[in-house]
Amino acid sequence: MICDVCKSREAVVYQPHTGRRLCKECFIDDIRQRVKKEAEKQGLLKANKILLAVSGGKDSLTLADTLASFIDPKRLVAFNIVEGISGYNRKEQAEKLRKYLDDLGIELISTSFKDSVGYTLDEMVSSARAKGLNISACTFCGGFRRKLINDAGRQVKADLVATGHNLDDEAQTVIVNILRGDVKRLVRLGDVPLKLSDKFVLRVKPLRKIYEWETTMYAFLKGFEFQEVECPYISARPTLRAKVRELLYLIEQQKPGSLLRIVEEFDKISELVRQHSPKEELPTCKICGEPTSYGREICKNCELMIQSGLLPQKYLRIS
Ligand SMILES: [Zn+2]
Ligand SMILES: [Zn+2]
Repeated sequence: MICDVCKSREAVVYQPHTGRRLCKECFIDDIRQRVKKEAEKQGLLKANKILLAVSGGKDSLTLADTLASFIDPKRLVAFNIVEGISGYNRKEQAEKLRKYLDDLGIELISTSFKDSVGYTLDEMVSSARAKGLNISACTFCGGFRRKLINDAGRQVKADLVATGHNLDDEAQTVIVNILRGDVKRLVRLGDVPLKLSDKFVLRVKPLRKIYEWETTMYAFLKGFEFQEVECPYISARPTLRAKVRELLYLIEQQKPGSLLRIVEEFDKISELVRQHSPKEELPTCKICGEPTSYGREICKNCELMIQSGLLPQKYLRIS
């Protein structure tokens, strides 16, 4: 089978949402162009410095590689967090990540939950359990990752923080927030980043129009060996999102391109909603001084630490 784009090389990938068969070179080119188009809308081409939140998984490698194809790698700084999950955060994986980023000319900085918060994720979870609390690992992990990524963004004076969220993640988030009726969070999604606090480095998702299978294929075709071990806490993931994920796969299977349309249509709606909703500054947490959600006095992270009996001394010093 010959590639539908260059009409010369052998096709290796079938892209259901376009109905095209592509060779390796044309597939890589297609992904890079689509990432560049999204990156342009999100302001990455004009940014002086961009922090890339990387985990060593397929999405983060695809993120680093595609961005470095059209942005000077000197303007990119990768940031990795070791959560402290036994059996999951492996040394060999961290070394591979460093090597790939080195080859791309991207600086890598890293930290761990232990060093910056004072506890590993495993310690936070077991402490919460010991108190008889039913707080999932993902709740701790998501909140503290966000905080540390934002801290690192400020430290390196980044204009933007880019994460590796792909189209599947983004479509799930849109539907979950609609089902929850979380309008304020919905307005924040959209393709153009929204600044709600001076303490927040704007977050962008350059891969939000790239299917998850495409980021996997991209990393595979580029020869990256990526973290394939599943997080042991995966079974504790929120059930609503898992259900939405299954449902969306079914819809996509029957009608390829559906996820792309959900996110594209949502972007148009979000733009309209934004025009009519006042931009409210986010309130500040009374304990750590970081921005928190509307209607809260203490941020979710501080609340979790207090509930679990873990004194937030260590990270209080950062802010
Ligand atoms: Zn081709
Ligand atoms: Zn706080």
